[in-house]
This record gives sequence, structure tokens and C-alpha cells, in this order.
Amino acid sequence: MKCYICGLEEGTNLLEEPVGGDKELVHCRRCGDYEISGTAKAQLAHTGQHLDLSAYLRDWNIVGGRPAILDSNSLAKICQNLPKYSVSEKQSYLLASLAAISKYPGDHIRLEPEVDMVLAWAKSSQEFGYYVDALIGRGLLTPIGSKTYDGTPPIVFLSPAGWEAFEKNSTVPEKSAQVFVAMSFSGLMLPVFAEAIKPAIESIGYRPYRVDHDLHLDRIDAKIIAEIRKSRFIVADVTEQKAGVYFEAGYAHGLDIPVIWSVRSDELDRVHFDTRQFYHIVWENPADLSEKLRNFIDGFFGYGPKYKTRDGA
Ligand SMILES: [Zn+2]
Repeated sequence: MKCYICGLEEGTNLLEEPVGGDKELVHCRRCGDYEISGTAKAQLAHTGQHLDLSAYLRDWNIVGGRPAILDSNSLAKICQNLPKYSVSEKQSYLLASLAAISKYPGDHIRLEPEVDMVLAWAKSSQEFGYYVDALIGRGLLTPIGSKTYDGTPPIVFLSPAGWEAFEKNSTVPEKSAQVFVAMSFSGLMLPVFAEAIKPAIESIGYRPYRVDHDLHLDRIDAKIIAEIRKSRFIVADVTEQKAGVYFEAGYAHGLDIPVIWSVRSDELDRVHFDTRQFYHIVWENPADLSEKLRNFIDGFFGYGPKYKTRDGA
């Protein structure tokens, strides 16, 4: 059979058991494992290859360790929010993916450009080869064996400099001005963002990033993952106890991205058992939160890059 997403024929197969309903569990060597519904298949049938979607699914498998579930609803949302990476971001992404699939430092990874090109969000094996060569040229990957026809070495491993670069990147560019804000988007909480969190972050030289309400599903999608990874730290206000807020904070925490927790005082008792151990800024009203948050950021991180740029530093 052919993969519904990327069109790859070789090495694609349905697993023995249908998942139930009209869903199938598909294993593709390029996309990884995914579950797909009949309506999602019909949506995809009209178009050709979806290599960005393939890259997203492969990443989902690597990061999440489980199949993505595609129905007509989730498919449309994912496609709307697929990230666009720059040339240098694709190299960082490839390095991070290779680090993630290394079983141990020094593990030899056999690259198959046709299949593995999505690890770099590349559109062709040639583009993929370019990023591999770039990482080798920068001393971050070490090649083993002879080059193949398109110049891509079949086996590589991360050099010590590669691990160092990966660890630096994965703990967030220290120069990033972005602060990811995870919070409820109810009508009651909107003024809390506008009057407290946003001005507090901006006043100290950082740029708040909040996912728009209509893009915000009850799970982390590729866009959210990309934005959290780019952030210097995140502010997680757990007032109203939304699962998505805990998910985003947990994801950042796992990447060693600092999380500033906050909660309105009347909900302090409702904070999730697993995160109660962390210090929370407890606030009464937006003005109170704004002042406390600003002081906390100032004390913990100091002024952000925007402030430094303005001063010419
Ligand atoms: Zn595929």
C-alpha cells in the first residue's frame, strides 16, 4: 500500500488489527506510526504528497513516543498550524532529531535520505543532504563510510561539539526575547493577559507569545511545540485549571525551559497535586499580578534582549 500522507510505497503497511470504527493504524517508514480515519483519508486523497505533515507526524512519534491520531478535525487544525522553518532552524531541528533517536552518545545512525529527509523538514533528499553536509562542515556530525550518489553519507553520529550544540539549543537560545504564555482563554482571563501579564513581560524587555484561542486545541501541536522551544521561559497561569496549561508547562519543564507558575489566590487549593511543589505567584487582581510578575522576572532573569538592544549592548 501507499502511505496516505507522503505517498511512500516501500515499507508502508497497515498493522494487523484495525483500530476500530473506520480508523486504521498505519506504519510508514517516513511518517512513523499514525491512526487515520476514513474522512481524513478522503481529505488527503485529493492532493499529492504532504511532506510537512509527514515531518510533523515523524516528530510527533519521536517527541511523543506514540502515534498521532488524524481525523478530519485534527487534520485540518494541524495543517493550518504547520510551522515554517528557516535554513538554520532546519539544521537545528535535524540535529535535535538525530540526538533524540541516538540510543546513546556515539550511536551510529544510518540515514536514508528518501525516508529521513523529514527529520530536517526538507522537501527532497537533495535538500536533506545539504543540511547533513552543513552539520558535518560545522563539525557537529561525524560521517562514517563512503558518500552515496547524492553526497549524503549513509552513517553519521553526533560529535562532542554536536551534543554541546544540541544541549545548548534544547535549553533555548539564551538570547531569545520570547516568553510563551500558557493560560486559560476564558472571557474572565483575557483582561488578566492584557492588563497584567503582557505589560509585565514587555516592561522588562521580553516579548509575550500567546497562542490564539481558536488555534488552541486541548493538546500540544507542532506550532505550540515550536514556539515553546524558542522561548526564554514560560509563564503558566493555572487559574481555571485548564489541562492545556499544565501540558505546555510540563513540556517546557521537560526541555529545561524555566516555568513561572502563577494562580489567583482563591484557586490556590485547586492547583494540581503534581505541581504544588513548585513556587506559585499568588495574586489577587491584575494589578497585583503585574507587579509581582515583573519583580519575579527582574530578579530571576534580568532585563530581556529588547532592553539591551535599545541600549546598544
Ligand atoms: Zn508516510
